[in-house]
Amino acid sequence: MFFSIKAHNYTKFLLMSVVTMAVSSDFFDCYAGTGAPSSSNSDKEIASDFLDSVSQNQQANKKEDVLSFSDIVGDNFIFSNEKGFKFSFSNLKGHVLVIAFSTTWCPNCPVVLKSLDVLKKKLLQQEIYNVGVITLNIGDEDIKAVKDHYAEYGIENLSAYESVAHANGIEGVPVCFVFDKEGKQAAKYLGWHDFASDDFIAFLKKLAAKKVNDYSSKKKGSTIGSGKVWKKMEVLKYGNPILKKKCAPVEVGDKEAPELLEQMLQQMYESDGVGLAAPQVGISKRMVVIDVRQEPAKVYKMINPKIVWKSEETAELIEGCLSVPGVYETVKRPASVSVEYLDETFKPCFIEKATGILAACLQHEIDHLDGKLYVDHLSRIKRARLISKYKKLQEQQEPISDNSGEGQQAQQQ
Ligand SMILES: [Zn+2]
Repeated sequence: MFFSIKAHNYTKFLLMSVVTMAVSSDFFDCYAGTGAPSSSNSDKEIASDFLDSVSQNQQANKKEDVLSFSDIVGDNFIFSNEKGFKFSFSNLKGHVLVIAFSTTWCPNCPVVLKSLDVLKKKLLQQEIYNVGVITLNIGDEDIKAVKDHYAEYGIENLSAYESVAHANGIEGVPVCFVFDKEGKQAAKYLGWHDFASDDFIAFLKKLAAKKVNDYSSKKKGSTIGSGKVWKKMEVLKYGNPILKKKCAPVEVGDKEAPELLEQMLQQMYESDGVGLAAPQVGISKRMVVIDVRQEPAKVYKMINPKIVWKSEETAELIEGCLSVPGVYETVKRPASVSVEYLDETFKPCFIEKATGILAACLQHEIDHLDGKLYVDHLSRIKRARLISKYKKLQEQQEPISDNSGEGQQAQQQ
């Protein structure tokens, strides 16, 4: 299962100078450069003033200016949009993200928002699904006020998100960040930029085509708990027949099981998942590892897990799967389950009435052991849409294995 909770350890260049700043027009600049922007509602007037004056604002990508997303909004930020979708930044890993911050009172923001609106439309038209465009309002307006503000300027494709109360390290708006598929800042634009231009779309496509290094070179060959060397395991992808097979039970005392569980756990961490089932690494046996990164920390290594009770009450959660990378969908499952299993020493264990992410993760992983994927829980239409999106993503991903100089390339933009 792919539902990473922990904020990623992005490089934080600016930790020392990040200051929490209350958002107020008194000490919050509009990035317009010289020449006061018109406060008129006429986009054309705003644009001409604005566009003439902001070329000097391309101060993007100076190293000392690099902020991670969590630097700006904090580690536990949840995106919440008008359609009721909630997700964290780590849920978006694997996507290139264009994230802009704006306010409703800034006269220049609508110009940038409109450009991003056109960008979003073009991305959809070109069926580029692994690039997200998200605009966040800084202030205390509710979603409806943000939506109304968008409507006022004819912005049709951007979703309205719950406002961000505090933005650290952002001293003016509009400001737009591009984060690569690993969540690292690839570009930053203060003020105007033609986001709907072919050049900018080409830049995004280039970033989106980069293959994410799903395990770091540092960890290659690192020793695992048993003192043996951890080997990267191949995570099988959607369409592989092993994922459809019902797995055989593990015999009590199976000598290979404890080490396989440890290898699987390491692979799960490397792939940044919260759960992994043995068939996903080509082993058709009933074994699962789970760590949903909750406090207090608990790692589950499970042999022959079995759901022995489930609640009538259901819950919905956005799920993803390491075998269907890059796509996510809301899945409805029993809200709570109890599970019997053997641990890696073959000791019988019991999880009583797990809830939340753990409940969903247990069901997701145990489904894998019966040859079932989370997409099988979706309606036919939703599944078809998700799979076609997934296939498109796979096609768009170039098999680039050499990532050296990636940061440099991105920063040149
Ligand atoms: Zn899965």
